[in-house]
Amino acid sequence: MERVMNTYVEVKDQAVNDIALEIEQGVEEKDKIDSSIEEISASFEDNSGRCPECGSKVEHEGGCMVCRSCGYSKCG
Ligand SMILES: [Zn+2]
Repeated sequence: MERVMNTYVEVKDQAVNDIALEIEQGVEEKDKIDSSIEEISASFEDNSGRCPECGSKVEHEGGCMVCRSCGYSKCG
């Protein structure tokens, strides 16, 4: 009977470890997804009028993107 109990506890511990590992991996996956979303958001911001050099708002001047903060400009 005692041996059965020990086996039960070992199996239970193993199951708990497996679940903990899965949760850990799930969190890592979530972090990856979060950073991907941040990257995508950042690239959208670049296209919607943010300076890629300093992150300030850029102004549009004669078809060019001009940053007043750092002097960055891009035409076309
Ligand atoms: Zn700038």
